This record gives sequence, structure tokens and C-alpha cells, in this order.
Amino acid sequence: MSAATDFDLVAVGAGMAGHCTALAGAQAGARVALLEKTGQYGGSTAMCGGALAFAGTDIQRERGIADSAELLEEDLMKAGRYRNDRALVHEYAVRQHDAYRWLQGLGIPFDQVSLSGSQSVPRNHGTDPKAALALLHRHALASGRVDFRTHAAARRLLTEGEGDARRVVGVELADGTPLRARGGVVLATGGFSRAADLVERFAPELRAARPMGGEGNTGDGLRMAWALGADLVDMGHAKGTFGAPVEAPAPGHEGRAPRIVSAMYRGAIVVNRGGRRFVDESVSYKVIGDRCLQQDGAVAFQVFDQQVMDQSSPLPSVADYAAALAAGQLRTAPTLAALAGELGIDAARLQRTVERYNAACDGREPDEWGRTSLSTGFGRPTRVERGPFYGIACTTGLTSTYCGLRTDTTGRVLDVFGRVIPGLYAMGELVGGFHGETYMSGSSLGKGCVFGRIAAADAAARAGVAVSDGGSSG
Ligand SMILES: Cc1cc2nc3c(=O)[nH]c(=O)nc-3n(C[C@H](O)[C@H](O)[C@H](O)COP(=O)(O)OP(=O)(O)OC[C@H]3O[C@@H](n4cnc5c(N)ncnc54)[C@H](O)[C@@H]3O)c2cc1C
Repeated sequence: MSAATDFDLVAVGAGMAGHCTALAGAQAGARVALLEKTGQYGGSTAMCGGALAFAGTDIQRERGIADSAELLEEDLMKAGRYRNDRALVHEYAVRQHDAYRWLQGLGIPFDQVSLSGSQSVPRNHGTDPKAALALLHRHALASGRVDFRTHAAARRLLTEGEGDARRVVGVELADGTPLRARGGVVLATGGFSRAADLVERFAPELRAARPMGGEGNTGDGLRMAWALGADLVDMGHAKGTFGAPVEAPAPGHEGRAPRIVSAMYRGAIVVNRGGRRFVDESVSYKVIGDRCLQQDGAVAFQVFDQQVMDQSSPLPSVADYAAALAAGQLRTAPTLAALAGELGIDAARLQRTVERYNAACDGREPDEWGRTSLSTGFGRPTRVERGPFYGIACTTGLTSTYCGLRTDTTGRVLDVFGRVIPGLYAMGELVGGFHGETYMSGSSLGKGCVFGRIAAADAAARAGVAVSDGGSSG
């Protein structure tokens, strides 16, 4: 470990948000400490689906998808039921395309664009999250300005001054080492999906959801800022994600099985153990996650036919049905009755459910749950008819919490009276206000990048270092 203890910027947490902050800080000329509590960088970012929500991109244009910053902003607000902080959402909409170009310029490929929850057009730009992080990490180290440390948990924020003059000047590590940050401390410690006490306090209805975030995501940044009077927002809106396979992957498939499967946006229906649908499957998987927890055993089954199977696409997508089949999590059978037997659900009821669903697809009767699209108004539901049939038992996973510190559009943390806490920034999943009631797929990685770059430039300016245009790796 390096002995340096004085920096322009200290970024706490080495996932997407921490890496984008550290690299952008280095590009702006700052000397940066990038701290990671566990033995390796990555956090939830390294485990995730690798989808980033961007609008108006070259790849969308090539595929004839008409999208814009305005439509993205409206979709984000709509997903959040207009309880989001409009200023944050607007800033994201305006700055996201530049972030996309920055990531592309660093060499991160985006080779797919797909439709996902709360998106009115396909805008999830897919990339391999581990490879993307590795690239960001290499650029950060190559800048010569980033001191990356593992097993370096920040446990407390250091301040100077009293009352209105109080400001954050650094962090104290778990071993007692103080690190100074002239321009500011950026908290990027992720959510609190692994902190049972915080889940119990803020989202007790999710105690049955399966914790799925990074192992170090125990709400440390939230607690450190809270101790200084930081305001918290969206705490009542933490939600789980529907689609976590109930069955563990077969031996040998652990690293190759999907963590989340969401076939409903390609045409699957979702039924409970009684063989009944219980939700409009085109809505956000966060909403389906809530409803799933209310079903018998907190389990629901995605059921689909060969037409959906034919749309399987490889990991890290949430549509890798072939990998789920190979891992023994997805079951298949030539008839719906046989599939119901495999899955342990009511066969006669499943048959009737599918007949009613197909009638609604044909327009012969209204859909019993009001489904009219594949996702959020996009695409038409398709009949479940062409065997073999497939089904997978899923539950709700707590992948991410998406609520927490209140910030302004520069990422500066605000206290409970709405005043900036000087020297303190927060990024990524631990920030509240951006998503409102519900998260739109792909917007977490995206916001970590967008706001990480903004905060890094601000902290670098605060430290008095020269700000460049951020166009190279440093
Ligand atoms: C299965 C799954 C699929 C997902 N799919 C997508 C997707 O496709 N698109 C999308 O946008 N989002 C997705 N998400 C959510 C997304 O991955 C996260 O919200 C996002 O990666 C969070 O990034 P972050 O940088 O804020 O935090 P993280 O990537 O979690 O990084 C936080 C880091 O901080 C470290 N840390 C914590 N406390 C301390 C401390 N005290 N000191 C130092 N370090 C500390 C942690 O160990 C961790 O490494 C998914 C999540 C999961 C689990």
C-alpha cells in the first residue's frame, strides 16, 4: 500500500461510480485515492447485467430506434411516478449522451440495444460489466494519478470547522489511517442490500427478498454521511427485482448461469403456484417483484414458448434462457400440462390461464391484467403456443436499493435543511431522489458514470487543479 495520505479527491468504493469518478478526476488533473473495502474492485457493478440506459445513440439510430433525451427524461419520471427529483433526472438526460461517448472513447463496446423495464423504446445498451470495469481500472492506473487500495474500508468522515464552517476534509480508514482530500470526498459505496439492519429499518417488506448486491454493500456511505446530518430520500421506495432463479445452478454452471431472468419483456407470462397470473407483465420488474413477494412461498414462474426461447441472448443479458436451461434452472416440456408437472404448479389452471391470455393476444377479449404490450407500451404480446414450453421458478432479489443520500445536480450531499455539506459528494447507488418510486432499467450504471464525472470535475476545481476536457485517459 502506498504511504501517501494527501489527495485532491478521495473516492470511496470501487464500482462503476467510484471508477468513473476516479478516472474523471485524474483526467481533470487531480491526485485521487480510490478505496475499496473488499479484496477486489467491482461491487454490484461486477455482478450486474451490464445494461446502460442511454438515448439518441448511434447504435439506436442504426437500428431505426427513435429516442431522445426528452423521451428518456419522461420515461424516468414516469417510472418514478413523478416523485423523482426532476433536476437530477434532467441533468442525467442532458449529460448521458456525452457519458456514452466518453465510455466508447475509452474503448468500452456497446454492441446490443434492448428493451427493458419502464422503457418506451429499446435503450438498454449492453456491455460486459466486468470487462468495462477492468478497462476503466486500467485507464485509471495508467493515468499515474490514481492510488487504488484494496482492504481499505473508510469508516468515518473527517471534518474541520464548526457550525456553518464545518467541511469534510478526508476519511479515516478502518485501521485508523487518516486520508486528506483537498477537493472533496466522493462516497460511492453502493447500496445496502447486504445490511439486514438497514433493510429491516427502511424496507421491512423486503426482508424475504434474496440479498444479491456486492458483498461489501452494507450502507457504509449512508451511515457516514448520515452521521453528519445528511438528508435521505426515497427510503420508502426500495424495491426488489423479480427474476432471481429459485434453483441454484447445477454444479459446474455457477459462473455461467443468469442471476436474473426477465423473459416477460420478450413474451413470457408470469404465474403463481396456483397457475394464475397476478400482474400485467409489461410493468417494471420492480413492481412485479413486489407482487411476487405476496404470492405463495414468494415464488412465481415465468412461462413461455419456443418463440421466446428463440430470442435468448448470451450473458450478461437477462435474456440468457439457454444458459438457464443448461444450468438446470429453466425446465422444458412438450406440453403445458407436462411443464406444469415439472414446475409443481396447477396444470388445469395453467392451461386455462394460457387460453385466456392467448384470447387477449388475439383481441378476442380484454387481458385479465390489462397487458397490452411487451414492456411499457412497446411491442405486442404474443400467444404462448409453440412447443416445447419453458418455465422457471423465480423469486424477488434485492439486487440494489436505489435510495439514500440527497444530492444536488453536482453530486454534493445536502443536509436535512437542504444545505450543501461542503467537501462531501455521493454517487451511484447510494444516492436517493433520482429514481423516485421505481428504477428504470439501465439507469443505475448510467447515473454512476454521468454524476461521477460531474462531481469529479467539481472536486478537482475545488482542489484548485486545472480542469481539462476529460478526453483522454490522463
Ligand atoms: C444481478 C444484478 C443485475 C443488475 N443489472 C443492472 C443493469 O443491467 N443495469 C444497471 O444500471 N444496474 C444494474 N444493477 C444495479 C447496478 O449493478 C448497481 O446499482 C450499480 O452497479 C451500483 O454501482 P455503484 O458504483 O454505485 O456501487 P457498486 O458497484 O456496488 O460499488 C460499491 C463498492 O463500494 C465498496 N465499499 C462499500 N463500503 C465501503 C467502504 N466503507 N470503504 C471502501 N469501499 C466500500 C463495495 O465493496 C463495492 O465494491 C444490477 C444489480 C445486480 C445485483
